Amino acid sequence: MFGRGANVCRICGRKQGLVRKYDIYFCRQCFREWAGKMGFKKMN
Ligand SMILES: [Zn+2]
Repeated sequence: MFGRGANVCRICGRKQGLVRKYDIYFCRQCFREWAGKMGFKKMN
């Protein structure tokens, strides 16, 4: 469903505020939730 170059959040599918790190695409909101689960602190 998510081919190469798909610039949408992998969790919620929105395009706004995409974060592309670690070979993943998350929007900021989902990234924060994911990062929190992974033990990252808020960046930027
Ligand atoms: Zn999202």
